[in-house]
Amino acid sequence: MTFDSMAIGAGPRATAREDADTRLDTRTLQQLDSAHFLHPFTDHGALGAKGARVIVRGDGIHVWDSDGHKIIDGMSGLWCVNVGYGRTSITQAVARQMDVLPFYNSFFNTTNVPAVKLAEKLAGLAPPGFEHVFFTSSGSEANDTALRMVWRYWQLMDQPERRIVISRRNAYHGSTVAGASLGGMAAMHAQGALPIPGIDHIEQPNFAEHGRGLSEAEFGLLAADWLERKVLELGPDKVAAFIGEPVQGAGGVIIPPQTYWPQIQRICDKYGILLISDEVICGFGRLGTWFGCERMGMRPDLIPFAKGVTSGYVPLGGVLVGERVARALVERGGDFNHGFTYSGHPVACAAALENLRIIEDEKLVERVARETGPHLKAAFARLANHPLVGHAEAIGMAAGLNLVRRKGATVHDCEPFARDLAVGMVCRQHMFDNGVIMRAVGDRMIVAPPLVMTGAQIDEMVERIRLCLDLTLVDVQRRGWLD
Ligand SMILES: *Cc1c(COP(=O)(O)O)cnc(C)c1O
Repeated sequence: MTFDSMAIGAGPRATAREDADTRLDTRTLQQLDSAHFLHPFTDHGALGAKGARVIVRGDGIHVWDSDGHKIIDGMSGLWCVNVGYGRTSITQAVARQMDVLPFYNSFFNTTNVPAVKLAEKLAGLAPPGFEHVFFTSSGSEANDTALRMVWRYWQLMDQPERRIVISRRNAYHGSTVAGASLGGMAAMHAQGALPIPGIDHIEQPNFAEHGRGLSEAEFGLLAADWLERKVLELGPDKVAAFIGEPVQGAGGVIIPPQTYWPQIQRICDKYGILLISDEVICGFGRLGTWFGCERMGMRPDLIPFAKGVTSGYVPLGGVLVGERVARALVERGGDFNHGFTYSGHPVACAAALENLRIIEDEKLVERVARETGPHLKAAFARLANHPLVGHAEAIGMAAGLNLVRRKGATVHDCEPFARDLAVGMVCRQHMFDNGVIMRAVGDRMIVAPPLVMTGAQIDEMVERIRLCLDLTLVDVQRRGWLD
């Protein structure tokens, strides 16, 4: 099938212009892709043999591939398309800004209107005490910026020996050298020279993995106390900051017990350690609050953000800077020798302003808190009776389930599949082939759908997920993976 024939069924937004731009068939596109485009986090040998799926358009919660398949996007692009696809008011805001002023820098005592408006808007939406924002173009750059701010802060406080930042294993904080170092992804560190010196990791608060014999509440306190132990081991006068995602996203939607973050906060307060809440995923409504820290009960000093701030329409990230750091940096820091060409990019800021207007006008944060979040949670809980599902949980518009070889009475008594079988990838393929995008993190299958997804659409998505779990079950039986 060519794009020409596809465009016929592509709805009113497929224009003649779009037609001309995309007159390449799927196979040709796949060959060109494989020949020239190095994808993120991808085995190119394997991709070349199979061919990438070409996504050509989106509308609402759906995307279409180049063969005309309509797919429910359970991952919001990559945790970012929170207001869904096809929002022409964002496109128009972007086009208007490009006509007026496509770019100007903010280095040399200059600024631009959308950046000023967005900074003010974000200060209004953020938890109390956040009056300042530093703009970047991505979440990785936001975390690089947070790290440099932390180091500069302690220098200004005359405690430059406080340099160590503690993070968690299996955390994801981006892919730059600082982001990958702050992150706790073993496979990233294994490819050379990471983490950089001065970054240390403790175990993640993963109840299924580490909580055997404990209640969730007890486990939350135990997991937080791993931080205190690490602080004492390193020396409290050497520790600059602790960084964590309120809910670990790329690590597999790891939802910490409710006792975890308040205890982390207590420990940070006790030793004067700065707290960084990486809200690149949890910010802008994902958990049913504007920021994840509000839902999880902590008061961070820095909030790196990206993804949902523009719903991915244009790249934008940044760091919300709390009172304590702002006072040092802004009031007595002098020059902060850090920044990006695109810090406060007017077009990205215009996209963010319109995106935030949509989130507010359509009350998406409240809807996730009261309606769709609880709906997703209930729908996922029902999946737990499937023979392949060990346990399933959800928070806000994020959910995960574990594929297991044999179910057990508790999450700790399930028997996992052998790792090298990669059962998650088998399951993911069935999902994609049957019109729903779910991500596999090892044997954990996760979704983080657009915040605009309705209750009926959640039901449809979860029905399809159940169908694909059935297909996966037949598949693994046929492969002889169940004895
Ligand atoms: C995606 C992500 C990042 C990195 O953002 P990029 O825009 O890909 O650089 C950082 N932190 C978290 C929690 C993320 O999910």
